[in-house]
Amino acid sequence: MKALVKLTAEPGLRLTDVPEPRTGPGDVLIKVLRTGICGTDLHIRAWDGWARQAVDVPRVLGHEFVGEVASVGADVQDIAVGDLVSGEGHLVCGKCRNCLAGRRHLCRSTVGLGVGRDGAFAEYVALPASNVWVHRAPVDLDIAAIFDPFGNAVHTALTFPLVGEDVLITGAGPIGIMAAAVARHAGARNIVITDVSPERLEIARKVGATLALDVSNTDIAEAQRRLGLKEGFDIGLEMSGRPEAMRDMVDNMTHGGRIAMLGLPAKEFAVDWAKIVTSMITVKGIYGREMFETWYAMTVLLEGGLDLGPVITGTYDYEDFDAAFDEAARATGGKIILNWA
Ligand SMILES: [Zn+2]
Ligand SMILES: [Zn+2]
Repeated sequence: MKALVKLTAEPGLRLTDVPEPRTGPGDVLIKVLRTGICGTDLHIRAWDGWARQAVDVPRVLGHEFVGEVASVGADVQDIAVGDLVSGEGHLVCGKCRNCLAGRRHLCRSTVGLGVGRDGAFAEYVALPASNVWVHRAPVDLDIAAIFDPFGNAVHTALTFPLVGEDVLITGAGPIGIMAAAVARHAGARNIVITDVSPERLEIARKVGATLALDVSNTDIAEAQRRLGLKEGFDIGLEMSGRPEAMRDMVDNMTHGGRIAMLGLPAKEFAVDWAKIVTSMITVKGIYGREMFETWYAMTVLLEGGLDLGPVITGTYDYEDFDAAFDEAARATGGKIILNWA
């Protein structure tokens, strides 16, 4: 089968033929229809410091996908050939304290699809049945392909109650934009989102941000003044991993404010801990999606009318992967989809 592979320990990707994945009695083999390109995939293509320590070659990339079940193992129940499915890309150990307690997203031995094992940028992908999400309600194929990052957005946005709250989102990448859409749908009052890309800020306005702020020329304190906020933001969603964004966020939170942090910093950085203490701010790290509470939430949010259409800004056939990756790497648009069918 055709697959997008990191073949050797150097920058770049290769479209090449690889054997179909082997499956066991508990596994599901999925014919891939569409996939989403993630920042993780860009890191692996670029072969940066993170990728070099996280990925062994050769490796088939990709973890954001929708597909159709091609076959199921003898022990698999409730999933049938022909089902439309996406997959939870974190494979957990099932044995650690958190796994045993049902808190699988907190597993200490998570293996990432397309990172620690072969992924979904291929004609077929295999997953344990316990990682397969069956779409039982009608769903747009492009949106189904990005359930993984949509789940990051939902997990982060709904970590703290935000009905009537003033929400600050730093970083208007696809996940930040989807978090803005979720916050609007879920009843936040003001939603301020920051970035330095005018195109991304425009998409954020389309999904319901109150104010999309270019922080290269306007600071967040100015946004507070424009909106008439007097005590700061109640909820912060940090989506950029950038030190200056986290510092700005801490500076603009209300006393008792709560920050959910999904953006992954490239290295250690300093923040004003005295401010966090005296403002009594909660900071919670978010990684992945709750299995499968977040997946349930995604499905019902879409059923309830949440519109993620503006988030998809590019579609390519898989043969044109280099152009698709280049567009994703420019970081000026939304989600880029690869078509495999
Ligand atoms: Zn991803
Ligand atoms: Zn575990």
